[in-house]
Amino acid sequence: MLYNEPSPLEVKVLTRRFSLPNSASLDTYLASDGYVALRKALGVKPEEILEEMKRSTLRGRGGAGFPAAMKWGFVPRSSPKPKYIVANADESEPGTCKDRLLMENDPHQLIEGMMIAGLVVDAHAGYIYIRGEYRYLIEILDRAIAEAYERGYLGKNILGSGFDFDLYTHTGAGAYECGEESALLESLEGKRGIPRIRPPFPAVVGAFQCPTVLNNVETLSAVPAIIRDGGVAFSALGTPKNGGTRLFCISGHVNKPGVYELPMGFNLLRMIDEVAGGVREGRKLKAVIPGGSSCPVLKAEECDIAMDFDSLSKAKSMLGSGGVVVMDETTCMVKAALRIMRFYAHESCGWCVPCREGTLWLRKILTRFHEGQGRPSDIPLIGELAKNMLGRTFCPLGDAAAMPTISFVEKFRDEFEAHLDGKPCPFEEADRTVLA
Ligand code: SF4
Repeated sequence: MLYNEPSPLEVKVLTRRFSLPNSASLDTYLASDGYVALRKALGVKPEEILEEMKRSTLRGRGGAGFPAAMKWGFVPRSSPKPKYIVANADESEPGTCKDRLLMENDPHQLIEGMMIAGLVVDAHAGYIYIRGEYRYLIEILDRAIAEAYERGYLGKNILGSGFDFDLYTHTGAGAYECGEESALLESLEGKRGIPRIRPPFPAVVGAFQCPTVLNNVETLSAVPAIIRDGGVAFSALGTPKNGGTRLFCISGHVNKPGVYELPMGFNLLRMIDEVAGGVREGRKLKAVIPGGSSCPVLKAEECDIAMDFDSLSKAKSMLGSGGVVVMDETTCMVKAALRIMRFYAHESCGWCVPCREGTLWLRKILTRFHEGQGRPSDIPLIGELAKNMLGRTFCPLGDAAAMPTISFVEKFRDEFEAHLDGKPCPFEEADRTVLA
């Protein structure tokens, strides 16, 4: 199934099968280099696969950007405990919608990636933890898993190699918090999805108290291409230390929103203008959230930037999950901040006070502001409240709520001031379609 009109600037590695007929089927996969990487991996030592992964400079695509090979390397392979591979398919960061396309259009790529990870760390079972709202995808994944079992690509003695691997889908209830790795593991074990104290990290004590590799769907889906074509070839597609391609989900005020696979380090302004067809109706660009709603916002003048982990970190924002939200000059930044905070206040799991109370207070103050009831003292109060959440919560959701809020207030203070003392929102009329 097609996702959006492709762009000629795309470099299709993970999405190369999306336009093939019946792309989710095993036959299509096999006819287009499917399971070639697994066959190759079955014939070499686990350390060699890990070296190839290191050469790829693949960094986690879920948000944190941690080097994938390093994460795998932390798993104590010789431990007598069983080990597990878990795919994080919880995809719940606002602005992000790429993993669902990978699972819908090419589920075997993910399955193959998980098995190769299993070979490296000596795991013989894996789970795809998927949010409940993605029910239609669970059916696609279950069908692909059943096909793989039938044809000897999963189960006992895979392809006569002596390697066993079982794979299951596991449904969450659709909580943002369960995208956090330790809360995900709690939920996978049938408990309430709240984070664990770390260390120990999942690589050592993960699912069912056993060593676990936990990666995002896009990260695991990149593995077959890396092993098939070589880590160096994958790395060369991106920038130093930021290898490969990335699925960018471009939404908001552009003419051609969609998911586009582009080399890491692709310039953000070019992405908006040349890939996504430019800002709608010829309007001016005002701001961009570069990697999902938890990332600090960039002003238009900051958008001439390479989209990779390091460049965005230098600009005091993040590449995050690749959700690029474009806002034009008609956007009310107070309303945008409020819309984001509504989400975090709703999704706070309530486990720790700074996040549970902080997100509610911020939502209240931003609501008051947007209704024209803001007070001058509220502007520094928003910043203070948000800063008091930073680094003081059990999981990154607290930071995820605080960081964009701080950036909105600091970078668009004039708009907050324009909402003071009963003044109507200057953007309200033009803003009706924004983040509604
Ligand atoms: Fe729950 Fe928020 Fe605390 Fe995370 S930061 S544990 S979501 S209350």
